[in-house]
Amino acid sequence: MTRCFVCHYHEISLKRLNRPYFEKILVRNIKTALKGTVHGDVRRIHGRIVLDLVDQSPADEIAGRLRKVFGLVSVSPAWRLTQDLDAIGTAAWEQMQRRQFETFQVRTRRANKQFPLNSQQVNQVLGRFLLEKSGRRVRLDDPDLTCHVELVGDSAFLYFDKYEGVGGLPTGSSGKVVVLLSGGIDSPVAAYKIMKRGCRALFVHFHSFPHTTLEAQDKVRELVRILDQYQHGSDLYFVPFAEAQRQVVALTPADTRVILYRRLMVRLAEKIAREQGALALVTGDSIGQVASQTLENLHTIGSVAHLPLLRPLIGDDKEEIVNQARRLTTYDVSIIPDVDCCSLFVPKHPETRSNPASVDHIEEQLDLDGIMNDALARMSHERIG
Ligand code: ATP
Ligand code: MG
Repeated sequence: MTRCFVCHYHEISLKRLNRPYFEKILVRNIKTALKGTVHGDVRRIHGRIVLDLVDQSPADEIAGRLRKVFGLVSVSPAWRLTQDLDAIGTAAWEQMQRRQFETFQVRTRRANKQFPLNSQQVNQVLGRFLLEKSGRRVRLDDPDLTCHVELVGDSAFLYFDKYEGVGGLPTGSSGKVVVLLSGGIDSPVAAYKIMKRGCRALFVHFHSFPHTTLEAQDKVRELVRILDQYQHGSDLYFVPFAEAQRQVVALTPADTRVILYRRLMVRLAEKIAREQGALALVTGDSIGQVASQTLENLHTIGSVAHLPLLRPLIGDDKEEIVNQARRLTTYDVSIIPDVDCCSLFVPKHPETRSNPASVDHIEEQLDLDGIMNDALARMSHERIG
């Protein structure tokens, strides 16, 4: 009897033709997520992935990491046995004696159709045995304990717990995106949502050092570290933005400043995206949340993008976003006070009804190429994870 984890996936099993492709990426991602831990083989067997453990394997640590692998809907600590009902019953009873329960059920799945009994018959045989041993009651709706048995290939897997996984699609199965990551609450959540759809995220942060602090950059690193638990290896670009802002402040009207900053950010992020082979940009915008996010301003800002500009929080209320940030654990980092470059030199009453043509016209005052080349030349890159 060896210890293992049985991992189930859901959505990717629907993509019939692409299924081997998704499964291959999923297995690779699991191996990457478990780097530095001791474990046995990782194999896909009939629509699930089984990870064998060895004696020294840190099971809790491994479970925690598996629960952050996109694509997995559940993760169960299990035992691998031969397909011998006596042995399965004995092992199940041994485990059940360690648990508190009044009611239980046996639930069998049979991928090996050669097995002489069908799932229902296995449930009955094992159920009867465990009933006799335990003297408890069988209950099929909402029992205290469920004894799961999976007959797969020539193995039987036995488990009682099913930990929820994060779901989504395996990282890397949908290509790369560039996330515009501020130190705020929204953009880390936006990043997570897009990452969950199988995209590998690259992160770009614009800072106005020395007007903004170095601590603000540490905050961004910490946010990337949290997000990196889901993709294991993240590129973070710090783009100096003070010089761009100096020009904007010197040469353009105060009420369009934030829009001009944002359009510059989009253009710069797009340059990085093209260089790195990313196919979309991601922001944490939500309609009407702040002045720069009126529909008109979103239109004016988005009109300079050539790549798709993805805004996964567009229809979310702040409260919903805050709840997501709490679950993701980025919230506590995001609320550490700092100064964002976009809150610098902003008027009390910014433009809320801009249009692309008039902002195009204002931008003629700026040396856009010069600003962009300068910022990109002084950009720094870090690898996290
Ligand atoms: P967030 O909480 O993500 O900062 P917000 O509600 O504060 O969002 P804004 O500050 O208007 O909204 O920013 C809108 C979006 O623009 C952000 O979600 C982020 O994607 C991008 N952004 C803003 N400031 C920066 C920055 N300094 N570096 C990178 N991206 C930024
Ligand atoms: Mg912000």
